[in-house]
Amino acid sequence: MVGDPPYRVCIDAGHGGSDPGARGVVEEKEMTAQTSEALLALLEADPNYIPLRSRESYDVTAKPSQRAEAINAQSPQLLLSIHGNSAPEGSAAAGFECYPSVPGRTWHQESYYFAQQLAQGMQAAGAKLRGHGGIRYIYYQGEVKQLVESTHTEVRDKRSFTLLEDVNCPAVLAEQCFVTSEEDVAQFGSEEGCKTVARVYYEAICAYFGTQPLDTPL
Ligand SMILES: [Zn+2]
Repeated sequence: MVGDPPYRVCIDAGHGGSDPGARGVVEEKEMTAQTSEALLALLEADPNYIPLRSRESYDVTAKPSQRAEAINAQSPQLLLSIHGNSAPEGSAAAGFECYPSVPGRTWHQESYYFAQQLAQGMQAAGAKLRGHGGIRYIYYQGEVKQLVESTHTEVRDKRSFTLLEDVNCPAVLAEQCFVTSEEDVAQFGSEEGCKTVARVYYEAICAYFGTQPLDTPL
């Protein structure tokens, strides 16, 4: 199905540059950059992978459409876009969720399979999974974002995230944890936490492609 290694895997650190993303105990862009850096290092050390990035530096500001273009130009076989969730003050929202390319799209099944590897890995690392098994779909009705549980498999004509719609490979957008939750950040958004999650993401990538993860110390 996926051919022989090395596999080209693109990591998109969400936000960055003048776009901080969500703000909480940590800034989303800091968390996505740290996680991405640790994950790229793991992929770099593994000869089964050719790590790619969606933009040259974390200081670059790039819209999803620009990222998609840069990603496609590198012909990856898988894309992981790293994000952090946020909730209004006073909310106790916490946990992991991720969004594969939606039903009916070319890469839906592969994306969903990768999402399963990610969610199972995060659960094993102690994360609470949100929604149905930590996997949900996003659709846009104009500017309004609509969240749909992954039990709803019917094909809709609404668009999902631009990045997922515009890339030419299986793709998942992960909301690693809530940047607004002290507990979440301590586990999965702190400097140590980002390394923990990078290892989970790395092993999920290995599971997706069927390679043996290297026991690289971080
Ligand atoms: Zn984000």
